[in-house]
Amino acid sequence: MLDNSKSATIHTPRSLHDLGATLQRVKEPTLFAGGTYLMHSSSFYPCDSHRDIVYLGEISEFKRISRNDRTLEIGSMVNLEHIMSAGKQALPNLILSSIANSGTLLIRRQSTLGGTLAIPSRRMALSGALASLDAEVQVYTLKNQRLVSAWKPISSLYERNGTLRLSSKEIIGGVRISDEKESFSSQMIAGDIMRKPEESAIASLACFERESLISRFNISLIFPETLFIVPSDLTLQMTGMTIPLKNSQMGRVRRLMEEHVDQVVRSGLPHLQRERGRRLIEALLHSLNIHGLS
Ligand SMILES: Cc1cc2nc3c(=O)[nH]c(=O)nc-3n(C[C@H](O)[C@H](O)[C@H](O)COP(=O)(O)OP(=O)(O)OC[C@H]3O[C@@H](n4cnc5c(N)ncnc54)[C@H](O)[C@@H]3O)c2cc1C
Repeated sequence: MLDNSKSATIHTPRSLHDLGATLQRVKEPTLFAGGTYLMHSSSFYPCDSHRDIVYLGEISEFKRISRNDRTLEIGSMVNLEHIMSAGKQALPNLILSSIANSGTLLIRRQSTLGGTLAIPSRRMALSGALASLDAEVQVYTLKNQRLVSAWKPISSLYERNGTLRLSSKEIIGGVRISDEKESFSSQMIAGDIMRKPEESAIASLACFERESLISRFNISLIFPETLFIVPSDLTLQMTGMTIPLKNSQMGRVRRLMEEHVDQVVRSGLPHLQRERGRRLIEALLHSLNIHGLS
């Protein structure tokens, strides 16, 4: 098999301008960030067709963390461990705890923000945390031979079934997060996302309140390979409610989440995964109420 493998061409753009020029030359780029996903996928190496690997780690614009007017911008090539150490004071707790649960220290030092959001095959916990916080993602696209960028909600990166909505020449430049601290947040994970994604579930909640009155309530539920939802109708319904929630209100949240799950995963959803999803939502709501009573 190794005899048939063809060596790859490595492109190392150092700026956005270089990246634009590279993408014009290369027909089907393989974007390479920290490499932790790519190097573990069996189809990456050896490979019997020619491959153009575009290494994004030298692009200076993607390696920055900057603070603007009430937001924090993090470049896509910043690794997860660095985000955690540099953003300790400024980042919402939900991001910090989600990153702390993202693999071992060795993996977090290597895997980047952009790579974590753009894994083709599965959605990770950090995507759910960012979506619950209404974070935005910057996507670069080649248009008329120029790289142009647009900011959009994190949730627009994915279909509701979790499929990534980026073409091979669309590149994540960074993420923008508001520095408004959530009143309550929590992320809960059931199962082993890496080894048994088909049984796992990730639920994240970010709630903003003033004097027990909810002003923003975003709950996301992920089944790593089949579901990515952050129901906006639920956000609307919860605005103006008071914490602690009543049983009937909690029941309504549970039912609405289940309806959304049923709309997306119409058949073949493993019973264990469905049950885990339901229990995680319940557990999040109970923790919110405990926070409200304390
Ligand atoms: C053993 C092991 C355990 C792990 N455990 C966890 C865990 O528990 N939780 C967790 O969250 N993660 C975990 N990870 C990391 C996770 O699986 C991914 O490997 C990692 O997040 C990918 O980041 P990367 O920078 O290494 O990306 P890469 O491997 O370089 O790329 C990943 C994908 O994203 C694309 N890509 C990269 N950057 C961009 C960009 N800027 N724009 C568009 N597309 C891009 C690439 O083309 C590729 O398809 C683990 C990894 C390993 C190997």
